[in-house]
Amino acid sequence: ADVAELDARVSVCRACPRLVGWRESVAVSGRRAGFADQPYWGRPGPGFGDARPRLLVVGLAPAANGTNRTGRMFTGDRSGDWLYAALHRAGYASQPTSRHAGDGLELTGARIVAAVRCAPPANKPTPEERRTCGHWLDRELELAAPTARCLLALGAIGWDAALAAARRLGWTVPRPKPRFGHGAESHLITPQGRRLRLLGSYHVSQQNTFTGKLTEEMLDAVLARTR
Ligand code: SF4
Repeated sequence: ADVAELDARVSVCRACPRLVGWRESVAVSGRRAGFADQPYWGRPGPGFGDARPRLLVVGLAPAANGTNRTGRMFTGDRSGDWLYAALHRAGYASQPTSRHAGDGLELTGARIVAAVRCAPPANKPTPEERRTCGHWLDRELELAAPTARCLLALGAIGWDAALAAARRLGWTVPRPKPRFGHGAESHLITPQGRRLRLLGSYHVSQQNTFTGKLTEEMLDAVLARTR
């Protein structure tokens, strides 16, 4: 399998009944007023970016009117405005904005995925949904492992998902379990002996960026360490 096949398979997943119902109901009848005339993707968000990434970014889950609308990771919402502007400053993104899937944005050296691929109600996937979607993350880690040097987890859920996927794949994970924090760092070792850095950043969600818990400088500082 390659990333194109993985993206295609993720895009039609229906394994979580609650999330399938929510993503489709938002797409059909729950559109935000400003987007009422737009078609909605209403499906899982496939990964986006370089097929042979040095950096794999692991987010939380699509926003109901963001990825669930545009079909591209972190595209069309304020979290994405923050993330892509920072990825552009760090040299990974060809442009600082990500408005829709046809805007020409390209990532070089980075690929973005999420711990959970379907928009959850109140942005809160259940533990069972996180476990169920984890197997897609396993495949992402396997495909990224030959080229990746670094995993960047956005938020504690992305951090935990990356560690859980690594464990399921039989990678060596430090014990006790590394603690998440902004700027936290750990490392993972694949069975082939490749060592990947795991870095943590506060998530780029509005509750962090609007309140100043996460500043542009803080995000830039972590991204600089992925280089
Ligand atoms: Fe499938 Fe993941 Fe969506 Fe669940 S959250 S339906 S596992 S893509």
